[in-house]
Amino acid sequence: MTARLIDGKAAGAAIRQQVAARVAEFEQRAGRAPGLATVLVGEDPASAVYVRSKNRATAEAGMAGFAHNLPDTTSEAELLDLVAALNADDRVDGILVQLPLPSQIDSERVIAAIDPAKDVDGFHPINAGRLAAGLEALVPCTPLGCLHLIRQELCSIAGLEAVVIGRSNIVGKPMAQLLLGENATVTIAHSKTRDLPAVVRRADIVVAAVGRPEMVRGGWIKPGATVIDVGINRLPTDDGKGRLVGDVAFAEAVEVAGAISPVPGGVGPMTIAMLMRNTLVAAHRRAGLADPEGL
Ligand code: NAP
Repeated sequence: MTARLIDGKAAGAAIRQQVAARVAEFEQRAGRAPGLATVLVGEDPASAVYVRSKNRATAEAGMAGFAHNLPDTTSEAELLDLVAALNADDRVDGILVQLPLPSQIDSERVIAAIDPAKDVDGFHPINAGRLAAGLEALVPCTPLGCLHLIRQELCSIAGLEAVVIGRSNIVGKPMAQLLLGENATVTIAHSKTRDLPAVVRRADIVVAAVGRPEMVRGGWIKPGATVIDVGINRLPTDDGKGRLVGDVAFAEAVEVAGAISPVPGGVGPMTIAMLMRNTLVAAHRRAGLADPEGL
């Protein structure tokens, strides 16, 4: 059996197109475009690439972008001042502070300082708590993107066994909450889980968010399962360019799964698409408008 490939590139592009259409509608109703502020502290090359693509996607969606690039010597107080200014700026609907931050800055304090209504990354404890309580929240972009892909693949998630490998606040925990919200029976596995292969073998839906190249083997997968690979791991190659692989041994798993998301081209493009979606949603809620339908 060869699994269907879950095309995150196409799904992400479709969402971004829908968002762009709704941006135009929002602008007509609110008299301004939704606005996203990005904050990059320091020169970490991977972070710079991520922020550049987020800024580009913002412009392509027709939203207003406010890019702040700060030196890596920025103090926590200076960053908190900027966050306070962005909280007070009415043109800004979303605030994204790119992580990781330099060591002199406490990330948790910075996240907690962001207005929860503008927390388009969904990392603020208020949004995490609201998601856990089943209330309206801004939800982290990567697990939201994974849920979209799973929903596209499966008509109904209710009653299915889902195993999420990884319990980070950014991916694993919110992913588990979202699947629980869809009435899946959810297990969260982590580094202390006993007999992980046996736990994964029960799953109709597997979400791997570990950060260990090709850890999940084909023999762990229940035949026909839907497999979402969040991992992004760069393996060294002779030409020095490196090769991206996920947390799932793709060549093995593709022979067993019913559907599988590749790396790259699976979850990655969904994250930015959902950031655009969250910014649009935040703009609607801040303007007192109903959430845009179908997103
Ligand atoms: P993280 O904070 O490092 O969390 C990793 C999780 O994996 C932890 O909960 C850890 O368990 C668990 N783990 C580690 N070794 C394990 C093992 N041997 N068996 C079972 N569980 C194990 O990572 P993250 O931020 O969630 O990211 C996970 C991966 O997704 C990374 O590759 C990252 O690059 C990628 N990612 C991709 C996107 C995207 O847009 N596609 C976005 C975010 C992250 P403990 O809690 O017990 O330590």
